[in-house]
Amino acid sequence: MRSERFRRDFRRSLIGITIALLIATVVGIFSGWLTESLLLVVSVFLALHLVGLWQFGDRLSATAHSGRSSHLAAWRAIGDSIQSRQSRSRSQRRRLLTTLQAYRDAATALPDAVVSLDGERRITWFNAAAQELLQLDRRRDIGSRLTDLLRSPRMLEWLASDSSEPLNDVAAPSDDQVRLSMRQIHDQRGQRLVVARDISQLQRLEQVRRDFVANVSHELRTPLTVVHGYLDMIDPEDVPDYAPILRELRSQSRRMTEIVEDLLTLSRLDASDAANNPERVALAPMLETLRREAEALSKGRHRISVRRGSDFDLSGSVKDLHSAFSNLVSNAVRYTPDGGDIAIAWSVNDEGGRLEVIDSGPGIPAHHIPRLTERFYRVSTSRSRETGGTGLGLSIVKHVLQLHDAHLRIASEMGTGSSFACVFDPARLLAASAVGEDA
Ligand code: ADP
Repeated sequence: MRSERFRRDFRRSLIGITIALLIATVVGIFSGWLTESLLLVVSVFLALHLVGLWQFGDRLSATAHSGRSSHLAAWRAIGDSIQSRQSRSRSQRRRLLTTLQAYRDAATALPDAVVSLDGERRITWFNAAAQELLQLDRRRDIGSRLTDLLRSPRMLEWLASDSSEPLNDVAAPSDDQVRLSMRQIHDQRGQRLVVARDISQLQRLEQVRRDFVANVSHELRTPLTVVHGYLDMIDPEDVPDYAPILRELRSQSRRMTEIVEDLLTLSRLDASDAANNPERVALAPMLETLRREAEALSKGRHRISVRRGSDFDLSGSVKDLHSAFSNLVSNAVRYTPDGGDIAIAWSVNDEGGRLEVIDSGPGIPAHHIPRLTERFYRVSTSRSRETGGTGLGLSIVKHVLQLHDAHLRIASEMGTGSSFACVFDPARLLAASAVGEDA
């Protein structure tokens, strides 16, 4: 619409120029050739500029042209357009500054310490929490390298590594009792944000939870042993009317004892430090023990095979690793229907050591797999109870492996079977010892 009006203005300007040209020609004819030529050149020059002006004005006029129609309207349109662009960019700048301020206000109010660093790791900005948690001073430290202000070797090493992995449980410069979890987030221009969170309260709560579970399990253990003992003393044949009830009472009290024992194992693992006295875990006798346990549990219902594909042993706790591996073997036997195959294999490759338990059981739906190591998580509660499961087996496996710098890799296909692999870091491998040295 505006563009139409502009075209009309321009048409008028062109008519004006044409008339001016005609007048120039007439004047030229009457006043001699030189003047005529000059006038003609000036007029053509003027006309070309006007065409350029029209094209430029036409591009801008869609938003800028306004006012009365006249042959000067193109100039006005250009002026209006420049003005409106200027005011638009001013308001965009204002909006940007407001948004930036809002972000800064939000970051300032965050309970986490946030420090922004430039490409050379110099501090460009930090919030109030960083002042407190990292002991930074606004007047002194802006422009300084963060690595020059921190002393903790763990923090310095982590900052230098540019690692995107979080740094957990590190003492705050302000107070050794304050524990921090830190992250560094890089952007594409080499700048980064360092975020530190105070996790002391979380750790205290976690400790309270651990102590509570350990204490409750411990307190339950004695009365359960007594109940179990008395129930074992009663002969069902002496009380035939109560025989089914007695059987149920025995089975439930056994289940409760198993749960309490598993909870106590988890509490012990929670509190233990694997770095303490690692021993040689000889794989040959370990595999033999697992085979015997599998056969005892299976009672001939499955085909069980064991393969030792490497002479390497492991460094760690014999008791804990045995507990983890036998949980996997027990699961394989309990969840694989009669006639199925169970394989236990030890191998070593570039990735490290691998103790794998493979079964031809029903498989596990993919969406359950990430949650299997949670406490009391079961795919089917009834099947787990039927087979004597406590819901804590894989949780124990995960804890034991964590203490051995290892992890559990689960693969499963419905209708085909499952594989539970304990993958150990190469640093945990020990070359085979001389015969007779194995424990
Ligand atoms: P539970 O004592 O119930 O067996 P676990 O922690 O050992 O507890 O295992 C958690 C769940 O994972 C089990 O309840 C079961 O649903 C599933 N699971 C574990 N091992 C297998 C397996 N070999 N085949 C199929 N499902 C399994």
